[in-house]
Amino acid sequence: MATPPRMTTTAGAPIADNQNSQTAGPRGPVLLQDYQLIEKLAHQNRERIPERVVHAKGWGAFGTLTVTHDISKYTRAAVFKKGTKTDMLARFSTVAGELGAADHERDVRGFALKFYTSEGNWDLVGNNTPVFFVRDPLKFPDFIHTQKRHPRTNLRSPNAMWDFWSLSPEALHQVTILMSDRGLPQTPMQMNGYGSHTYSFWNDDGERFWVKFHFKTLQGHAHFTNEEGNAKIGQTREGYQEALFGGIEAGNFPKWRVCVQIMPEMDAEKTEYNPFDLTKVWPHGDYPLIDVGVMELNRNADNYFAEIEQAAFSPSNIVPGIGYSPDKMLQARVFSYADAHRYRLGTHYEALPVNAPKCPVHHYHKDGSMNFFGQKTGAGDAYYEPNSMGGAAEDPSVAEPPLRISGDAARYNHRDGNDDYKQPRALHDLMDEGQRARLYANTAAAMQGVDEAIVNRALGHYDKISQAYGDGIRAARAALK
Ligand code: NDP
Repeated sequence: MATPPRMTTTAGAPIADNQNSQTAGPRGPVLLQDYQLIEKLAHQNRERIPERVVHAKGWGAFGTLTVTHDISKYTRAAVFKKGTKTDMLARFSTVAGELGAADHERDVRGFALKFYTSEGNWDLVGNNTPVFFVRDPLKFPDFIHTQKRHPRTNLRSPNAMWDFWSLSPEALHQVTILMSDRGLPQTPMQMNGYGSHTYSFWNDDGERFWVKFHFKTLQGHAHFTNEEGNAKIGQTREGYQEALFGGIEAGNFPKWRVCVQIMPEMDAEKTEYNPFDLTKVWPHGDYPLIDVGVMELNRNADNYFAEIEQAAFSPSNIVPGIGYSPDKMLQARVFSYADAHRYRLGTHYEALPVNAPKCPVHHYHKDGSMNFFGQKTGAGDAYYEPNSMGGAAEDPSVAEPPLRISGDAARYNHRDGNDDYKQPRALHDLMDEGQRARLYANTAAAMQGVDEAIVNRALGHYDKISQAYGDGIRAARAALK
């Protein structure tokens, strides 16, 4: 075996003895000057960083996006030029569980992607579902509180979950998916991903299109029932990490078909549903899937903490050719994700190797905690802008066309004019008998221990989706008693 490298302090000084602390005599006590011991203990105390408030438990890997189809009439984005291959990172996660939670719990799965494009990092921070529980960001912290622990019992509270959902009928679409087979995928490879929000594309002619992103699993869908999930958790709490990490180590590289739905800009005023409502899909019959390419995961991280735990995804990261939309939830996340990373990882989280773009980076942000890169202005004497020192300058050629949206500032009731029942009904309708039976049973199981008044309020909503859905849950509840 080759001689191992010499062990050192973090300052690089060689270490002679890493087995025995420095003591006054063989029976102690230890000396304050034993800096090696102090450094070791101090580092241990600082090994943990705040876990994510949501999506704490995750699994990730690196890969490639290969664009096989020409969509240049919709977007000028370099990442979407036909034939382009772009390095990327994916992190999957559960939403509610903490960092040590078991992998095989019924929950929505995060599907966060970072594409290291030639014009900057593009992050798509979606889920394995095309919709979400709420459409107004003012409700988001309350919703998450219902998913987390009760402040007094320190236990998860089905009562809180169903109280909130039954008072927020816009949640029913997502709850239907959560309680369906797809609410408990067997592995991260066997599920679809969705950008969920409506974003926009803009092309070389300055035309804007609304867009939704879809990632269709090429491994096929595979799910566990609650019983199978519980049995799996009895064997291992780390089933997703084992499947994803182990699969890639063995050379089984998972792939997803990458597609978009495109809506012409002016259609947004015509659709009967609000196309910027995160609780709604765009029916495929109206806006068919258009093929873009293939995403493959083919490399594990060398260090989980450095590259997956410290990975910071934010919907604020878009690139020329991709834009936001009026989706209120998207706009709130544009703020809150970057803010969460500044808190969790620090001011310069985007300079960490896993988050750093692979294209040149030039900006005038200065100093700050843990600045290890000095200045990135492109010229030594340029530390402000504009300057005459040759520092980086703006490029009007990448200016986004104007977003044609206007209206009077007010707190509009987001429930007005919304049909919260039609799309869950469409999903219920497309399920076969077995899928429906499991949907009813999973919903009934999730309602166990919940106050009758809250259950009845929820059932009232299910009846409005379809009498068969409400009655199916009632029968499944009776079977549990
Ligand atoms: P389609 O029949 O064209 O598409 C149905 C979609 O539902 C497919 O994308 C399918 O995914 C997906 N699906 C099937 N079972 C489930 C499930 N248990 N949970 C979540 N998704 C599932 O119908 P429409 O486009 O008209 O939509 C009908 C309903 O399908 C919607 O109201 C919505 O609930 C659901 N849906 C629609 C999507 C969309 O973007 N239009 C996307 C996902 C769901 P796959 O092809 O991978 O099997």
